[in-house]
Amino acid sequence: MIQGHCECNRITYEADCEILDFSHCHCSQCRRLHGAAYATFAAVETDKFRYLSGEEDIKIYSSSDNHERVFCGNCGSNILVSLEDYPEILYLSMGAINGNPTHPEAYHIFVGSKAPWHEINDGSVQYDENPPEL
Ligand SMILES: [Zn+2]
Ligand SMILES: [Zn+2]
Repeated sequence: MIQGHCECNRITYEADCEILDFSHCHCSQCRRLHGAAYATFAAVETDKFRYLSGEEDIKIYSSSDNHERVFCGNCGSNILVSLEDYPEILYLSMGAINGNPTHPEAYHIFVGSKAPWHEINDGSVQYDENPPEL
């Protein structure tokens, strides 16, 4: 069981499934929205995900036509990203997930737009933009 919550604890959630995909996104939107060198996402099945509390505090920002960013309207924590083209999958912000649930090997995406002050040196696979299968 994957569980997580925002910083102020109003929004809590769980997903009763494995992490399907595990990526570090270096795109400028993720960097800015997460206030970080990159954002790490754990993909889960949409129909296995549910909010346990705080749905009334959810705010949604559309960072592009087909990307919806869900965040806490009280504390600003990034909760998840949903992509219009892949409604069956939700990309949970790994930083808000409790503990260290089992996950596939990480890879880096949008490395072509990574922060110039950040160096990737973990040896994981890197893609300039999305991986070929997306
Ligand atoms: Zn919050
Ligand atoms: Zn991104």
